[in-house]
Amino acid sequence: MPDTVSKSPTDMNHVQLIKQFADAILLINRQQQVTGWQKMAQELFRLTPEDKGKSIDDIVGQPDFINRLQVQNYLELTLPYHRGKRILRVGLLDCEEGYQLIAKDITASHELDKLRQDFVANVSHELRTPLTVIHGYIEMLQDLYTNQDESLLKILRVLQSQTERMKNLVEDLLLLSRLEHKPINPQQTQTVAVSELITNICHEMQHLISQQQHKFLLDITPNLNLRGDPVELRSLLTNLVLNAVRYTPSGGTIEIRWFTDGHNKYFIVKDTGIGISKEHIPRLTERFYRVDKGRSRNIGGTGLGLAIVKHVLLRHQGQLTVTSELGKGSEFKCSFPDL
Ligand code: ADP
Repeated sequence: MPDTVSKSPTDMNHVQLIKQFADAILLINRQQQVTGWQKMAQELFRLTPEDKGKSIDDIVGQPDFINRLQVQNYLELTLPYHRGKRILRVGLLDCEEGYQLIAKDITASHELDKLRQDFVANVSHELRTPLTVIHGYIEMLQDLYTNQDESLLKILRVLQSQTERMKNLVEDLLLLSRLEHKPINPQQTQTVAVSELITNICHEMQHLISQQQHKFLLDITPNLNLRGDPVELRSLLTNLVLNAVRYTPSGGTIEIRWFTDGHNKYFIVKDTGIGISKEHIPRLTERFYRVDKGRSRNIGGTGLGLAIVKHVLLRHQGQLTVTSELGKGSEFKCSFPDL
C-alpha cells in the first residue's frame, strides 16, 4: 500500500512508528468512503472487493464514526461477526486523500484484563460471607468475656480490628470491580442532594473521630445537586474526607467546600496534614499505591480509596486535581461539568 501521508519529516517518523504498532490500516477518502486496505485489515474487517467505495460507517457498523474518532482520539471497536468477537483500538491519521484508520487488535489483553477482574471479584465475593461470620463471633466473644483478664480481651481486640480491615478490603475490592465492569446505569442515576450528603458525612465523621481534635470548616452551597449514582458519590465523598482525617494529626484543620462557578461544580477537601511529596502525586489513584504502607495499614486504610474516587469521577465525567506540600497539607479537588 502506498504511503499517502503528507507530513513533515518528524511527523513522518511519528507516522511510521504508529504504523509499526498497528495491525490493520484502512484508507478513507474525504467523503468517508473506504478506498483501500492491507491484508490484515481485510481479514479483521472481513472486506471483499465490493466494499471499496462503501462508507466507513457501514464497514464498522457505527454512525458518525470519523467525527467521533476525531473528538476522542481513539475508540475501542468490537467486531461481533468474528468467532468469539474481536476488540480493536482504532485511531485516525490525516493524509492527503483523507484519512488512514489505524487499528490494533487488543482482544488478548482485554481478555486477560477481564480474567483478572473476574478473579478478584469472585475471590472477594467468596470471602465476604466467612468474614462476616468470623467478625460476628468475635463480637459475641467480646460481649461474653467482658470481665475476663486483660490479655484475652487484648487478643480479641486485635482479632476484631484485623477482621474489620479484611472486611473493608473486600468491600472496596467488590465496589472497585463493579465500577470497572459495569457501565453506569442511566436508570440508576438520579438527582443527588450532594450538599446534604456532604453535611451528613462530615457529621458522621466528627462523631466517629470524637477523640481526635480536628477542626472542620464547611463551606457548602445549599441545595446544589449533581446527577449521578448516589452510592458511588457517597463513596467518593467519604473516601476523600476520611483520608483528610486520617492523614491529618490531631489539632489540624479540614476545610470542605462544595460550590459552582456557573460552568463546573467543585468538591474540595483541604487539610493541614502530613502532605505528599511531588513524585507520589501522579500515582496516588493506582490500586494499592500508598506513600507509606505501614502508616496506611495502621490507620485502617485499604489502599483502594483513591482508585475508587478516580473511577467514580470517570463515570460522572469529573476530574481530580491534587496539590500538596510535604508537612503542610493537601488539597483534593473534584470538578464536575455543570450538566
Ligand atoms: P489508603 O487506604 O492507603 O488511604 P488511598 O487510595 O485512599 O489509600 O490513598 C492512597 C495513598 O495516598 C495513601 O496511602 C496516602 O499515602 C496518600 N494520601 C491520600 N490522601 C491523603 C491526604 N489527605 N494526605 C496525605 N496523604 C494522603
